Amino acid sequence: MKIGIYGGTFNPPHLGHLAAARAAVEQLGLDRLLLIPAAIPPHKALPGDTPSREHRLEMTRKMADAMLLPRVVQVSGMELEREGKSYTADTLQALREQYPGDELWLLVGTDMFLTLHQWWAPERICALANICAFGRRPEDGGDPFTAQKALLEREYGARVELITLPDPVDVSSTQLRRALAAGEEAGSLLPVPVYGYILMNGLYGTHADLKHLELPELRACSYSMVQQKRVAHIRGTEEEAMRLAAHWGADVKLAQRAAILHDCTKYLELDEHKAICEKYGVELDELEQRAVKLLHSKTGACIAKYVFGEPDEVYWAIFWHTTGKADMTLLEKVLYMADYIEPNRDFDGVEELRALAYSDLDRAMLTGVEATIEDMLRRGNPIHTNTLQAQAWFRRSGATLT
Ligand code: ATP
Repeated sequence: MKIGIYGGTFNPPHLGHLAAARAAVEQLGLDRLLLIPAAIPPHKALPGDTPSREHRLEMTRKMADAMLLPRVVQVSGMELEREGKSYTADTLQALREQYPGDELWLLVGTDMFLTLHQWWAPERICALANICAFGRRPEDGGDPFTAQKALLEREYGARVELITLPDPVDVSSTQLRRALAAGEEAGSLLPVPVYGYILMNGLYGTHADLKHLELPELRACSYSMVQQKRVAHIRGTEEEAMRLAAHWGADVKLAQRAAILHDCTKYLELDEHKAICEKYGVELDELEQRAVKLLHSKTGACIAKYVFGEPDEVYWAIFWHTTGKADMTLLEKVLYMADYIEPNRDFDGVEELRALAYSDLDRAMLTGVEATIEDMLRRGNPIHTNTLQAQAWFRRSGATLT
């Protein structure tokens, strides 16, 4: 196995790190990439506004998740757990013991590569791993890189590979920390979920008013709460909800905000859902007490209202988006249907249902609700009473299936 090792303070991880990590996976053909945040970097002091180790680890996890390569990219807390300075030679020694027969590649950007001979125990580093170096800026490389490669090969018998990033992003964490603290634009240079995580936790002196976020920040916060593989669906739901709302005369802005937040608690554990419901006074029936899948709509609604300050219409649209219910409002139907037919959905009959949603929304709702009931029966799952009531209501209200 070819294993890449990418260390850094990741304070915070940014799009430059991400571009380098992606390029290394592709150009070296890595089977695994380990992202390893340093506890105490030997080369520089951690600045005063540095968040806790847990926050840096979590931000690094968010960057890893944003790469959408879960089988390849992993985050290791090994340096954060180790006492004292985070010497790379120690990390590589531990990894060599963990992966005795594998090829280790240490990934380093310009600043780190050009000073590698001054690190602690460069001879051990070069004996334990190959070196993969890349420029942080398009103009990096050239003579200084070839000279350093020659020096490491000559002095330490290193094997050095120089790669060129196809899309380098010239940014540093220092720059971003300053911009975040000054309230300047920084989001476009951070992986979206990392940006959301920073805002939600008030890191680096940010004081975002979560109750009055603009759309990019609302998206970032929402995406920071979910696994990144879900983001395509959330984006699709946002698009579809806006289209449906405009078509049927619902409030497009509310539909959009409801869609952005509708799945934000999708990955919480049962206990976490229960804690949120208890905190905000949402009573759960017997089925909801044990069916975690039914809970994210209730807890998502709570987070939308109480954390992000969304109005009641948004609260209820999210609240009912999984089970549906009798006598739904237009906005509730729009979100339910958008979630059902958004462009990434692919099931038998989806095209017909998409057409129906724009010609007869109630009939489309009945079709959706009945398909859900059938699916539940096939799987042997209990059906929530609100879904049965929705079915009865849409039938009574004259929606008939062809
Ligand atoms: P700081 O500004 O806090 O010193 P940094 O932006 O240099 O941080 P680090 O976490 O210290 O980031 O860097 C970890 C590794 O990532 C180093 O090998 C570094 O060269 C590389 N790196 C940092 N920024 C970039 C970038 N924009 N493009 C490519 N590689 C980068």
